[in-house]
Amino acid sequence: MAPPHTKVAIIGSGPAAHTAAIYLSRAELKPVMYEGMLAGGTAAGGQLTTTTDVENYPGFSKGIGGSELMDEMRAQSIRFGTEIVTETIARVDLTSRPFRLWMEYSDGENDEPAHTADAVIIATGANARRLNLAGEEKYWQNGVSACAVCDGAVPIFRNRPLAVIGGGDSAAEEAMFLTKYGSHVTVLVRKDKLRASKTMAKRLLANPKVTVKFNHVALEIQGEDKPRGLMTHLKIQNVVTGEEEVMDANGLFYAVGHDPATALVKGQLETDEDGYVVTQPGTSYTSIPGVFAAGDVQDKRYRQAITSAGSGCIAALEAEKYLADLEDDDQPQLEKDTQAKKPEANGDSSAPEYRSNPLL
Ligand code: FAD
Ligand code: NDP
Repeated sequence: MAPPHTKVAIIGSGPAAHTAAIYLSRAELKPVMYEGMLAGGTAAGGQLTTTTDVENYPGFSKGIGGSELMDEMRAQSIRFGTEIVTETIARVDLTSRPFRLWMEYSDGENDEPAHTADAVIIATGANARRLNLAGEEKYWQNGVSACAVCDGAVPIFRNRPLAVIGGGDSAAEEAMFLTKYGSHVTVLVRKDKLRASKTMAKRLLANPKVTVKFNHVALEIQGEDKPRGLMTHLKIQNVVTGEEEVMDANGLFYAVGHDPATALVKGQLETDEDGYVVTQPGTSYTSIPGVFAAGDVQDKRYRQAITSAGSGCIAALEAEKYLADLEDDDQPQLEKDTQAKKPEANGDSSAPEYRSNPLL
């Protein structure tokens, strides 16, 4: 049996994906969204599900919880007719049309795709980075975490000294969040300045339960030497003097940035040196016409909920135009341009039921 077909599939479930879904479903294009099942370790709803209050998203004068905001977006997507599938897409084939999408655990060579689509919006966001410190694997989730909001309230951190690594907005936010639970929070910043916004930096530095150690890096996580033992100490180093010390720390939280979730499209879509999907400036157009990218997966500069939502809107409008052109049986203009540049066809002749993509 042929897999179900949709005009437009959205992969991802953060603000970019949901904004695209809202626009496309209101345009009656019946989008299908694969929201992920703990894709890349993040719950459906994306990065905002790992935070407390979002204070800078317009429309919520008193702020709104990150998960609550994403629940609202999801409800809005469904309200207008988006079909949401709670599965992770493990493989895509963007080299022939219709594009093909396989779900996790059904992505073998001989497995039928879960869906085919005329257009695809990639909105897979980004994942928290780890540092691979000595002891990290042993004490991961036994003191070491990449999400203070998710893990900070657990008893092992109550009234204990905690540490955060990073100097960005996440580090500032997470450190301040952790002061509710820990006895004191030390923030290790590898440079002599914070990258966080001025407001966040000011709040962090003024917090009496926080010590910011500039020019410091972590070297080793130490702790109980038994199965499921907990971390108890952190060996750190001043990178200017070279001096090392071992500090008490029952919790260590990474806030060292994110990697774009682009493994899915690697080798098919053009990506930059840091792995972000390359889009034409001011648009969601990727290197393959009919494939659009929105949100943090293509934005290493702003990475905000509102910019992700804005780019999701752009992707939806551009996908809508693309599909309208296809329906008119008129090859979309962008395809023609691309074809003119890349005349050689690259279709998959072993799969005759799928037309080769004339754009490649
Ligand atoms: P993401 O939010 O990254 O979500 C993408 C999601 O798609 C993934 O998490 C996963 O669930 C799903 N997915 C991924 N791969 C697949 C796949 N293969 N198949 C199916 N599904 C998949 N920004 C603000 O504006 N204000 C804030 O206050 C704020 N606070 C933040 C606090 C923290 C702790 C963090 C980490 C970030 C914060 N940000 C904030 C940034 C903001 O969360 C991001 O910019 C925004 O969420 C990016 O949205 P996105 O749509 O690109 O995708
Ligand atoms: P950022 O990339 O902004 O910051 C990462 C931090 O980690 C930097 O200070 C960086 O140091 C440090 N770092 C990276 N690698 C290492 C390493 N190997 N060892 C030690 N330190 C390291 O990421 P964030 O997650 O903080 O923020 C991502 C986006 O989300 C940003 O756009 C931010 O504005 C947004 N955000 C907004 C919030 C808000 O508005 N309330 C809250 C949280 C996030 P260096 O500076 O030296 O490179």
